[in-house]
This record gives sequence, structure tokens and C-alpha cells, in this order.
Amino acid sequence: MKRIYLDYAATTPTHPEVVEAMLPYFGEVFGNPSAIHSFGQEAKAAVEEARNKVADLIGAQAEEIVFTSSATEADNFAVKGVAFANEHKGNHIITSSIEHPAVIETCKFLERRGFLVTYLSVDEYGLVAPDDVKKAITDKTILISVMHANNEVGTIEPVAEIGKFAKEAGIYFHTDAVQTVGHIPVDVNELGVNLLSVSAHKFYGPKGVGALYIRKGTKLASFMHGGGQENRRRASTENVPDIVGLGKAVEISRREMKEEAERLTVLRDKLIAGLQERIDRVHLNGHSVFRLPNNVNISVDFIEGESMLLNLDLEGICVSTGSACSSSSLEPSHVLRAMGCSHERAHGSLRFTLGKWTTEEDIGRVLEVLPKIVARLRAMSPLFKSHV
Ligand SMILES: *Cc1c(COP(=O)(O)O)cnc(C)c1O
Repeated sequence: MKRIYLDYAATTPTHPEVVEAMLPYFGEVFGNPSAIHSFGQEAKAAVEEARNKVADLIGAQAEEIVFTSSATEADNFAVKGVAFANEHKGNHIITSSIEHPAVIETCKFLERRGFLVTYLSVDEYGLVAPDDVKKAITDKTILISVMHANNEVGTIEPVAEIGKFAKEAGIYFHTDAVQTVGHIPVDVNELGVNLLSVSAHKFYGPKGVGALYIRKGTKLASFMHGGGQENRRRASTENVPDIVGLGKAVEISRREMKEEAERLTVLRDKLIAGLQERIDRVHLNGHSVFRLPNNVNISVDFIEGESMLLNLDLEGICVSTGSACSSSSLEPSHVLRAMGCSHERAHGSLRFTLGKWTTEEDIGRVLEVLPKIVARLRAMSPLFKSHV
């Protein structure tokens, strides 16, 4: 049975060109980029080339890019870094209630250290209202962190509008752009951000490497202390192969992004329309227009997302409920709950995320298989029986 992977928001396969680009850096080009000799300088040149590529992709300057071990690290670095370096100015942080755990849990940690955090609510489509951000600002606010696009429901947030307020108020603004970088155009100046997080493995790069954009002049406390790497912002010997892989992934995305986003939007809309046609009482979660090109998140009344997921897996179709990070817990998605979904609707959710190797046939197969699974599960569901 051919397996169909529809969980690209959790991670993507590493592009074969990326793997190929990385290989020499496990072998002959093994030097430490901090070393003065030629082995070191070769490695350093590769790291700097990757830095230029990342900077170029998001409209930044190379000196403003710091490589990290992941986007989780980049999010931690941005939020804690601003908090600890600007404590003397204030202790208030504004974020949204639909952020990735890398931001939410970091904020909760800071609350235990005496910081005050406002978690903004969102509307039924998962949108943060820029006006709510504005209203939440106090003279103690030092940071606003709102994600560029949500990883569960695919809603694209009005980050540029929030950026304008943040700039007017002179408050640092961070965005987690993990789901958009490499997929849709991202420009740090258009967005008006001081800090922006990137992860390689969400756009066909290797796992375990990310980057944080830090606008020149941003006061940020480091939390990796040691050598003077990364402009003294983050100590430790650079992960050269992974950084080269990230650079290659950026290069590929620049080449293919536009066409790929168009292709995926067509497949996405075909899947949404097909599911709505074939299954009754199915709801689209997230915004219909401000939406990532590859995200389909639905709730099916009367049955559980987990049961659909397991049955799809038996048919070789791999999807997710909520986010991968919380899929081992039985708590319903905090994102769907924040959007005002009932427990039942949150539990009945399923996320399909499409990518480079998703074909029209794959979508056809989902449309053939899922309605049968839903019918079978509903036939066994006491909720459904009491409804009919
Ligand atoms: C995957 C993801 C992260 C975490 O990225 P890692 O590089 O795996 O740590 C953070 N934010 C969002 C929105 C994500 O989708």
C-alpha cells in the first residue's frame, strides 16, 4: 500500500538536494568555523553563505541572523531574551492564546518569575484583532509576540498591522514565522518585526536547526554563554551541516515557492470542497481566506478526531489531530478552544497539511476513504444515534 503523508506542518521530508548539500560537511569540510586555518575558514564560508541566504529570503541583513538549534530555541531566545534584557523598563508581555507551546510555555515560565502576560483571545477564525493588541499596551509593556500563521488551523495573522502599533509605541515585536518562511513571502520590514523565528525542518530542511532574526539594535539577553560565536549572541560551535542544509532549503524555496503555493492552494480547496460535499456536518476550522496554502483543518460532528486518524492510518493516510506536540495528550487543542469551539468540536478535529510530494491522486484517495470511515464511526457513535 502506498502511504500518503499529509502532516507537513509537523515536519517535512528533507529535500534530496538538501541532503546532498549537507554531506560534504560531515566529511572533508569538517573544520570548526572559529578556527583561523583553512579547514576552519572553509566551514566558516559555508555558514556565512547560508546566513546570507536566510537573510535575503526575509529581507534582513546577514548580521541580523543568529542560527539556533530549532525554532523552539529561537522562540525561547526572543521571548526570554527581551524579557531579561528589558526588565528595568517593564514586566508586561502581550501574546495570543493560540501561540505554539514554544511561546506560550515560555510566557508561563516568565509569569512564575514575576512577569505579567496578556494572552489575547482570537475570533472564531483564529484571528487576533490588532485593536486588541493596541488596547492591551501599557507603559510596562516590553514585548509583543504574535505568530505569523497558526500551525494548527492555518490562519494567517495581521502581523504587519500589529507591527505598526508596536513601532509607534516603541515596543519590541516578535513573530513565530515557522509556518510561513519558505512557504509564502515573508519580509521583516513589511511585517515591522524586531524578532522572527524560523525552523528548517518545516520547509524541507533538516531537523534540529533554526534561526532567529534580531533587528539591529534590539536588546536581547543571551542564554547560551560560552564562546563568542554568532556575533556573541549564541555560544557553541556552529552546527555546520545543518546550517548548510537550512541555506539549501531556503534556496529551493526561493526557486519554487510561488508555483508551489499556487499548486497547493488548488489542492487544498479541492480537499475542502470535496469533504464538504461528501460528509455532512463537517466544519472548516480557521479562516477561509487568510489561510496557509497547505492547511485543511476540519471538525466532523459526533465522532472523535483520534478515531478518524487511527482509521486513516490503517489505510496508509497520515494526518494529525491538533498539533504533533500535544497529540499524545487527550486535552483538546488550545487553539480550537481559544477560537470558541465546543469540547466536542475540538475533539472532532482533523488536520491535513499538504506539501511538495502531495498529488491530486492523494487528495482523491482521502476523499474516497474518509467518508466511509466517518459513516462507519458514526454508525457506532451514541452521539450520532441520539441526534438521528
Ligand atoms: C514546529 C513549530 C515550532 C517548533 O519548531 P522546532 O524547530 O521543531 O522547535 C514552533 N512554532 C511553530 C508555529 C511550529 O509550527
